[in-house]
Amino acid sequence: MAQTPDVPPNLYHDLLEAIADGVYFTDRERRIAYWNRGAEALTGYGRAEVVGRRCMDNLLVHIDDAGTRLCLGHCPLAATLEDGEPREADVYLHHREGHRVPVRVRVFPIRDAGGAVTGAVEVFNDNTAARRAAEHLERMERLALLDHLTGIANRRRAESALRSRLEELRRNGWGFGVLMMDIDDFKAVNDTYGHETGDRVLRLVGRTLEAGARSFDLVGRWGGEEFVAVVAGADRGALHEAGERLRMLVAHSSLDGDLPLAVTLSVGCAEARPGDTPESLVARADRMLYEAKRSGKNQVCSLENRGLPPGGPENGDPYP
Ligand code: GH3
Ligand code: MG
Ligand code: MG
Repeated sequence: MAQTPDVPPNLYHDLLEAIADGVYFTDRERRIAYWNRGAEALTGYGRAEVVGRRCMDNLLVHIDDAGTRLCLGHCPLAATLEDGEPREADVYLHHREGHRVPVRVRVFPIRDAGGAVTGAVEVFNDNTAARRAAEHLERMERLALLDHLTGIANRRRAESALRSRLEELRRNGWGFGVLMMDIDDFKAVNDTYGHETGDRVLRLVGRTLEAGARSFDLVGRWGGEEFVAVVAGADRGALHEAGERLRMLVAHSSLDGDLPLAVTLSVGCAEARPGDTPESLVARADRMLYEAKRSGKNQVCSLENRGLPPGGPENGDPYP
């Protein structure tokens, strides 16, 4: 059998002094009894300045993301002393030089032989790099779902919204609809004013649509000069109204210049059905969009205003 080697008498102390994490121990009154070298480095406070003081005595003054001073109420260390449960939190501690340092703190209770909590250990480490990485990731994720030209949601984001809304429709019966919108005669804008002006018009339309939609609806650029809106909770009438509002807003927007440049939109509406896929739903809205173009552009088209029977193949829907 392998023999367990002897542990040098100062091993645990030396280990605590060697690690980069800050470690301190407080008694039940939150008086600091131990303060390691890592804590000195992270806070700027030397051991002699800290040991014997209470951690809330204008020392570390942890605050959370909202700026709440945790020492005054919701301090994780106080909570662990109270209930004996270990805890973790992301907070900002106060450095001796005055600035704030983002740290992740972990608190563990220390118990006597009878199991009573006699104090707590707090371990904390510099969280700056982890936070930067998380923020960077969040930014990249946001960018991956945005259309780079207009700054509104891109097709990927819109498709994801379609899938989620369809799932909710099936699970909870929450209705919604789709508007497919296409700028009228956009090729002529490019041909007459140049591609760059065309891009400015796309941005203008994207912004107008986004500002005109309700906060819980999603507007995205589907591609080229086509836009999509996923309109929550809309029956056929409300969907048509939403399309009409967006059409009207775009028709009343213009790029400033010597001659204000205005464009119009054609809009096709389709109400989602439980059996839809994103493709089948968009295809129905596309057919209505085609009808709107065919009927003279700058208008909204849905099964209802075409005088066609309500949706569903069972009702003889000519646009299944
Ligand atoms: P309709 O009323 O039938 O929709 O006619 P239209 O001219 O709008 O349609 P068409 O499909 O003929 O032309 C679309 C034009 O949109 C052609 C293409 O060059 C232009 N386009 C697509 N993407 C962009 C873009 O990112 N920037 C610019 N400036 N133009 C774009
Ligand atoms: Mg088009
Ligand atoms: Mg077009």
